[in-house]
Amino acid sequence: MISDWQSALKRLTLIFLALLLAGWLIGAPALVVLVGTIVYLIYHLRQLRRLYNWLRDNQNSEPSPPPEGHGIWGFVFDGIYLLQRRERDALTHLRSIIDKAQESTGALEMAVVMISNKNGLEWWNPAASRLLGFQSPKDRNQPVTNLIREPQFIDYYGKGHFSSPLKLSSPVNPALMLEFQITSFGDGERLMLVRDISQLYRLEMMRKDFVGNVSHELRTPITVITGYLETMLDDRQNIAPRWSRPLEQMYQQSQRMENIIRDLLTLSQLETRSASKQLSAVQLQSLLREIKQDAEQVSQDKKQVFQLDCDPDIYIRGNINELYSAISNLTINAAKYTQAGGNISLNAYTTRDGLTIKVTDNGPGIEAHHIPRLTERFYRVDESRSTDTGGTGLGLAIVKHVLARHGGRLDIASKIGDGSQFSCLLPADRVLTAEQANSRSPAG
Ligand code: ADP
Repeated sequence: MISDWQSALKRLTLIFLALLLAGWLIGAPALVVLVGTIVYLIYHLRQLRRLYNWLRDNQNSEPSPPPEGHGIWGFVFDGIYLLQRRERDALTHLRSIIDKAQESTGALEMAVVMISNKNGLEWWNPAASRLLGFQSPKDRNQPVTNLIREPQFIDYYGKGHFSSPLKLSSPVNPALMLEFQITSFGDGERLMLVRDISQLYRLEMMRKDFVGNVSHELRTPITVITGYLETMLDDRQNIAPRWSRPLEQMYQQSQRMENIIRDLLTLSQLETRSASKQLSAVQLQSLLREIKQDAEQVSQDKKQVFQLDCDPDIYIRGNINELYSAISNLTINAAKYTQAGGNISLNAYTTRDGLTIKVTDNGPGIEAHHIPRLTERFYRVDESRSTDTGGTGLGLAIVKHVLARHGGRLDIASKIGDGSQFSCLLPADRVLTAEQANSRSPAG
């Protein structure tokens, strides 16, 4: 490249010197140099025109070989031709990748939708047309929330928290249950994956209905059995002594069954009934005071010390029965699993993120590897200890569901020997001040 440039410079210098010499010989050096420069300019202008024509002809077609050129112009023509070829090759390669991606997503059962940073539809596969009713090219660049108008979707999309998927029926076929998963990428663009989960959803509904129905059907027989056993035990003096212990055990077990059925029914209702829209404003301090009193009664014999710390000005927008059930489960657990004379505290405070309600005990604590599984149904750290205390293994599953229905979550921290801390975290939009609560619902 440098040698081309240098030889062109050399050639130019030689021509200039030759012109100067010829001009000097005929006695008109300026004129000869001027004529020479004009010829030189014309030569370069011609080469430029060839380059221009070639580039113009190549604009919309495959690059044709460059015009024949010498010296520096030959290098320029060849260099541009090489760059053009490289660009075309890269373009063809990219196009083939895009074609392959489109072909493979076209064959997918799952809908794939690309959304621009202005929330308009950029591209979607055939499954998206089938599941969501998008029509090409009519819906291109239309805002996605204009095409899927369900308030739940608009809320989910607007909030931008996509860590858990959204389940919603299809806007074109209500019989289809869809699962939406959205990921952000690039410069505010989004990729939306939509899966048909109708089959799974039906099975899940069948499971929930089955558990609900079985618990419901078993409730009456168990209540009758427990009732008779209770009556028989009340009349102990008329029963042969050898039957006394078996009857007591039968009574205990039937009570356990009653508890399990009660908790299963509660869970099934939490799972199947949609969260109530008519929420009251619950004064947290009085709710916690009531729970504390109940727990004190339950743990009367253990002489445990209960403490309560909650600002009377905190109100929660929620379902009072569900909230009572959740916090009471945690408090009764603390009482159940903490040794006699132990300390149990209930304390609630607001932060910028919302509300925290903490139930803390100085009981035996829980080993770290159990903690992630505690909210699973029937998961118990110590089977014998839990059944001795009348536990069903469903309490924390109920707590988790209730908090999820209030937009919150359960956080568990524990250290063996030191005790445990169960924190209910509720979002800021659930917290009201006394003033707000009174203006909303005087009865709350
Ligand atoms: P259970 O009805 O058996 O108490 P839960 O779902 O309420 O069921 O609790 C699950 C398990 O978590 C319990 O079996 C117990 O082992 C453990 N656990 C719950 N709360 C505490 C606590 N405060 N201290 C120690 N262990 C606890």
